[in-house]
Amino acid sequence: MKVLVINAGSSSIKYQLFEMPAEKVLAKGLLEKIGEENSQLNHFSDSKEHKIRTKVADHSAGMKLILDTLVAPQTGVIKNVSEISAVGHRVVHGGEEFTGSVVIDDTVIASIEKFADIAPLHNPPNLTGIKAAQKGLPKALQVACFDTAFHTTIPKVAYIYALPYEIYEKFRVRKYGFHGTSHRYVARRCAKIMGRDKYDINVITCHLGNGCSITAVKAGKSVDTSMGLTPLEGLVMGTRTGDFDPAILFYLSEKGYSIDELNNMCNKKSGLLGISGVSNDMRNLRDQALAGNERAMLAFDIFCYRIKKYVGAYTAALGRLDALVFTGGIGENAADVRAQVCENLEQIGIKIDPAANEQTVRKEGLISSADSRVKVFAIPTNEELAIAQDTFRLAE
Ligand code: AMP
Repeated sequence: MKVLVINAGSSSIKYQLFEMPAEKVLAKGLLEKIGEENSQLNHFSDSKEHKIRTKVADHSAGMKLILDTLVAPQTGVIKNVSEISAVGHRVVHGGEEFTGSVVIDDTVIASIEKFADIAPLHNPPNLTGIKAAQKGLPKALQVACFDTAFHTTIPKVAYIYALPYEIYEKFRVRKYGFHGTSHRYVARRCAKIMGRDKYDINVITCHLGNGCSITAVKAGKSVDTSMGLTPLEGLVMGTRTGDFDPAILFYLSEKGYSIDELNNMCNKKSGLLGISGVSNDMRNLRDQALAGNERAMLAFDIFCYRIKKYVGAYTAALGRLDALVFTGGIGENAADVRAQVCENLEQIGIKIDPAANEQTVRKEGLISSADSRVKVFAIPTNEELAIAQDTFRLAE
């Protein structure tokens, strides 16, 4: 069965076509700058990259271009788009309603629309992607996989904010958490590597990419996570603040900042970029830090320190910790970040093997020392595969 996985952003569509259940990637690509003059599609098939440059007016035209590319003689991997039986969509916010992936119908669409209120940057483009795929592949089963779903097992004690309770009752303001598909994928993979049942493992998973979050997984289920109502809470990220005193906002508002300016500041101008004044990209930041830029060094240190604090807190929340997992662009590649996070954590059973850590870049591996009570792993995430697996399961 051919399963197409779609991750639609405001001006982009990322896709992978899988042969299931073999889990083979037949083609993948990224269409960017939708709606602009110079839209660009980078398509990979047969380990070749094809660059297609043409104006793509909207997501619907974008989906048509992707489907045409999947069947074209030069770039294609299938004869007819009717071979695609199912499409799995990444959807960021599923609120309290969706505890797992679901087949999309009108009720599901209405719910995704409803949650756009809390996720205005993500749910509307996800929905545009769904509608474009329904139009391009009217016979295929459409499935939604929610970033929030894995976190619906978090207990009330961890998801209720200490605001007046009616704020939760009236507006459903609570911790939801994100990156769930990634946390679930690496937690399951970790259990597998350790030869344990997926429901027999306590693990802390650190997803460190442009967005960063950390999750406490107890007996295979998410019991706490660092992102909240929105992806702003928790760890320091490329351009997001993570945790800070909310009274800062009241103070700055009195100094003349508008709500929009504060929102933009906290989401787009803070984090690694805000502290360093240099870059939101860990590679640039590291180069600058090594060249002696003190603020870049400070941003790096704060980034690692915040993760370390959460590892401690979640170890306490879990009671027993079996493994710590690093994933995402930074988690998979930045051995220096992993080393700094794990420094002086022997008291809680975490001890890195420096050589194994240095060697484990962009690949799966054990990076803790033989005498480390807690196993530490780097595990490349694969959200697309997790979505393809869910979609295949529902299609079957
Ligand atoms: P992602 O959002 O998962 O694609 O991750 C993006 C982040 O990973 C950016 O901050 C990149 O700088 C970072 N990253 C990618 N490769 C490396 C690397 N080799 N060393 C350090 N950071 C990296």
